[in-house]
Amino acid sequence: MRYYFLLTISLLLFSCNGAKHYSKTIIEPVLEKTTLDPVQQEIDEIFSLLAYSLVYQDWQSHEVPRDKRRGYNIGAVLVDKENHPVYYGLNSINSTDNATQHGEVRSIIGYLDQTRKFNLSGYTIYTTLEPCVMCAGMITMTAFKRAVYGQHDVEYSKAFERLAVDTQPIGGFPPYPRRVEALANSTQYCKALDDAYAKFLATDSEKVLAKFLTSDEAKAIYKSAARAFENYEVKHPENQSILEAAQTFFDQHK
Ligand SMILES: [Zn+2]
Repeated sequence: MRYYFLLTISLLLFSCNGAKHYSKTIIEPVLEKTTLDPVQQEIDEIFSLLAYSLVYQDWQSHEVPRDKRRGYNIGAVLVDKENHPVYYGLNSINSTDNATQHGEVRSIIGYLDQTRKFNLSGYTIYTTLEPCVMCAGMITMTAFKRAVYGQHDVEYSKAFERLAVDTQPIGGFPPYPRRVEALANSTQYCKALDDAYAKFLATDSEKVLAKFLTSDEAKAIYKSAARAFENYEVKHPENQSILEAAQTFFDQHK
């Protein structure tokens, strides 16, 4: 009884203190920017198209049995502070027999191992699908500045936002600092994938995203994105060298 009383008092004290200290962060989680500089928006388009293209060139077909595929048609590209693409990873959960092997995890660990960097402060990660909680956690902990994704995930969605707000009711623990700006890319392919997936959800009996991502509809959208990347013409001349760096990166990983 006495123990319970002390525990209640200390929890109350802790949560009051926590709420006072962190309430500003909790009630004002500015999670997505509504306006984006047009030059940065074009840079995001270029690297998003690169991410779609890398997935498309190693497309996992529905004609191959699921356990024989590398993994899902999902990938991620890391871009440094100077807008150089430096590393990429593709979902490889089947070939590794390991459910953690998402494109984001593989690219982040692969690059950190290769460079012996401690974290990726200031980097941007471009993914073809909104990161899940595991990847959003890793992206947050490795101090990325931004995460730009190429399709909304309606099941595992808003992971960055959840990291920021979900700790609120748990005994006054502070929310995760929201250091990563997360947003969908502004290409037509993101919208096309979102629309096609909504249609798929309405009609398919299994309603599994991984299945959608092997469908002919999804493949056609990825193919268009890959074509657009090949034939891209910059609207902002200052982005020409960035486009060339992205296309060179793709050529080096064909
Ligand atoms: Zn993930």
